Amino acid sequence: MNTKQKDKTYIAATYSRFPVEIVKGKGSTVTDENGKKYIDMGAGIAVNTFGLCDKEWIKAVKKQIGVFQHTSNLYYQAPCADLAEMICLKSGMKKVFFSNSGAEANECAIKVARKYGEIKKGKDFYTIVTLKNSFHGRTITTLSATGQDVFHKDFTPMTEGFVYAEANDVGSVKRAVESNKVAAIMFEVVQGEGGVIPLEKEFTDALKEIAEKEDILLICDEVQTGNGRTGELYGYMNYGLNPDVVTTAKGLAGGLPLGVTMFGGKTADILGPGMNGSTFGGNPVACAGALSILSRIDDNLCNSVKEKSEFIKRELSKGEGIKSVTGLGLMLGIETVKDSKTVVKECMEKGVLVLTAKNKVRLLPALNIDRELLEKAVKIIKEVCAEGI
Ligand SMILES: *Cc1c(COP(=O)(O)O)cnc(C)c1O
Repeated sequence: MNTKQKDKTYIAATYSRFPVEIVKGKGSTVTDENGKKYIDMGAGIAVNTFGLCDKEWIKAVKKQIGVFQHTSNLYYQAPCADLAEMICLKSGMKKVFFSNSGAEANECAIKVARKYGEIKKGKDFYTIVTLKNSFHGRTITTLSATGQDVFHKDFTPMTEGFVYAEANDVGSVKRAVESNKVAAIMFEVVQGEGGVIPLEKEFTDALKEIAEKEDILLICDEVQTGNGRTGELYGYMNYGLNPDVVTTAKGLAGGLPLGVTMFGGKTADILGPGMNGSTFGGNPVACAGALSILSRIDDNLCNSVKEKSEFIKRELSKGEGIKSVTGLGLMLGIETVKDSKTVVKECMEKGVLVLTAKNKVRLLPALNIDRELLEKAVKIIKEVCAEGI
């Protein structure tokens, strides 16, 4: 059997994969089983921050593999401590907890919010307000946090303790906070899976005010928006927010599984011995990869992300067959006249890999994508969107 046949025979059918087998990659170019090359505008869903096989990243990861690959969390190890320090110094957060994925990072944030509610107001203050159309992960509890019924229907009963408010509707959040015993408000500053929809500044300002007034936590899910993706180190920095808890994963370790939950002043000391744990969390190889990535997310890189973002927006928003371009930095959603799935298919035929999010075409290229490749990809996307409409 070839790869596709084995996959279909032996792997549970949860993914509807594109008909492409990737055999190798370099930077923002990937090659399929027939030797056809593609410009990669998805970066493994915002994971390959510096593209494929980035030299510096490989060096850092290889070096750590040759020293020790795992220790368990029963012992101290430098890559994990060094990364925690780097994250805190760069973000201003106070402490972190390491896990392996976005969902786990959010699970930890939810645990901390519940404990905070109990300490501050009592055991029944555990409700978390999340937004409709959000996405927070695939575990039962992070699915419960996800404000989209389609994700719930096959797996009821869901974890209780979540209520959903309308994004960009302050009244809706206020009503949710007034009519429930609330510990936290949890949100993405740009709803990624929900269609690359940024929150409005007036809305996040209001969240900040409500949280301060009611002493409830703000939890920013930066799993997708984090690590330079939006043109700032973390997406909330575009909004002047000071969240109490920040979670991230995807692009953090440049292609290795690593999740982190960061705590601000109010939450830094909530977790105590035995209250959370993870066998692989803070794995030294993943942390070495993350140190290589995070140390290079600086003002220069962020400025180039913003500049590339402006270029894409400028070019595409004047394109035929394109109704709108939304998003921040190199996290962009394109509303097209054609069905987004058709656009993906036709782009693929022309050698460009793009993603979808709801009814949008979604772009999440590597942050260091070569300008020439980017221009070529944008030109092809524009052509595809205009063709035959
Ligand atoms: C991808 C994503 C998650 C889930 O991350 P996993 O690593 O797949 O568990 C959670 N929140 C947001 C905003 C995401 O984009």
